[in-house]
Amino acid sequence: MKFDEYSISEGIKKSIAKQGFKKPTDIQYKSIPPILRGEDVLAIAQTGTGKTAAFVIPILHLLQVKKTVRKSAGIKCLVMAPTHELALQINEVFVSLSKHTKVNSFCIHGGVEQDRQKEELGKGVDVLIATPGRLFDLVSQGDVVLKGLEILVLDEADHMLDLGFIKDIKDLMRHLPERRQTLFFSATINEKIKKLAYSLVVNPIRIQISPKDPVAKNIEHAVASIEMDDKRFFLGNMLAEHPDRKTLVFVRTKVRAERLKLALERQKIEAITIHGDKDQKERESSMQAFRKGEQKTLIATDISARGIDIPNVEFVVNYDLPESAEQYVHRVGRTGRGREKGQALSFCATEEVALLEEIDQNLGKPIARLEISKKNYQMTKASVTENNNEEDWKSLMEHAAIETEAWEKKKKKRKKNKK
Ligand code: AMP
Repeated sequence: MKFDEYSISEGIKKSIAKQGFKKPTDIQYKSIPPILRGEDVLAIAQTGTGKTAAFVIPILHLLQVKKTVRKSAGIKCLVMAPTHELALQINEVFVSLSKHTKVNSFCIHGGVEQDRQKEELGKGVDVLIATPGRLFDLVSQGDVVLKGLEILVLDEADHMLDLGFIKDIKDLMRHLPERRQTLFFSATINEKIKKLAYSLVVNPIRIQISPKDPVAKNIEHAVASIEMDDKRFFLGNMLAEHPDRKTLVFVRTKVRAERLKLALERQKIEAITIHGDKDQKERESSMQAFRKGEQKTLIATDISARGIDIPNVEFVVNYDLPESAEQYVHRVGRTGRGREKGQALSFCATEEVALLEEIDQNLGKPIARLEISKKNYQMTKASVTENNNEEDWKSLMEHAAIETEAWEKKKKKRKKNKK
């Protein structure tokens, strides 16, 4: 089936074509018809499957059709997302697909001044995309009125629960009309998520995408045994060999992200970092540089990168193994978006083997092993010069020589004085 065959407004079809989307992805094929019929949907799908457009396309059509009839003011659709980055990204999809419609959208999130957001809300917004914290503040202050809401979307609901937004979500529900269409999207499902989902949806259409192999077919992924202290050499080597490849590197902590950036600098490789210690502006400018391809290597922690959609990431490196199979799926899902192809490689040190076994087990099948021969392993280590170290060493020697010279001079002077 092609997008042309859907009964959606011509303007939306035009924008879809402009995006270069020809055929719907699996999740789009399954969700667009029931959403257009006004049904509630409970969908289990990871980012990378095309799930954003799966709800944006039918929502835009429903609002476009109604807007011409009723022209009533107020927010008609609310999309809740766990992070600033994801909220902004969803808004981008709304903006690009709504170009030839009368529907407008706006995104609110924390970390920035409320005033401009209030001003924009005052002008009238059809689709509001928001993170729960800021949304809750603005609803409490009366700046966001949700009485006329027709469609509610919860995106990455599992991540919202992980981040502790459950109370904000439940409090917000009191401000929403009971009669509405609810679309609930989550990458994973467990008892807690099911409970939340069933408290919000009514007789939903259930959709689950690739439950057996959660890693998309277009992603080639493998793991290699590399010891902790050697990881930086292997990464440096790979980056040097493919300087034009857009690479996203995952590390466990903010400190490790910064350390790795320095270690790469010593190998004369430039990289940028994104993590929780960076403010919103820095995070956005790093993301922008990586998105545009001005920077080819981005080092990220899980929290900062979750849900982020960056086009053309060709390679994902798990520099540190993630703590769970779910995280693994999220990380490698940053490549091979939509119908693109992608590659991912994980580095597993001896102390991470137990973690790897657990991930293998939860994925349902082991990740392919990439064997590195002893000779190649040693050669990779030996081939890397940490330039700054060398310079540090040289400058230390020079410094020592100057000090020795000065000391010799002083010694001679003292001897002379004694005489
Ligand atoms: P998402 O899962 O919403 O984060 O989307 C992942 C990526 O898939 C985005 O980069 C979209 O631009 C792309 N995408 C979405 N729908 C399609 C489609 N029908 N054909 C090709 N690419 C798509």
